[in-house]
Amino acid sequence: MDERFIELAEAAQAEALQRAIDNRVRYQGESAEDCDSCGDEIPEARRLAVPGCRLCVDCQVLLEVQRV
Ligand SMILES: [Zn+2]
Repeated sequence: MDERFIELAEAAQAEALQRAIDNRVRYQGESAEDCDSCGDEIPEARRLAVPGCRLCVDCQVLLEVQRV
């Protein structure tokens, strides 16, 4: 496997990931810009990584801890 092939494979992988993210945003709706619970701004990286998320990281962790 030469370097050119690895580059192509990585580019294809990045493109597939981006497509998957786009699709999830499309099908699961927009993420909230501010946390539903505490009103803090939700970082863009989290909104993109977790489509449709309504809570900031802190509140999400609290929720999951309470659920256990
Ligand atoms: Zn919050």
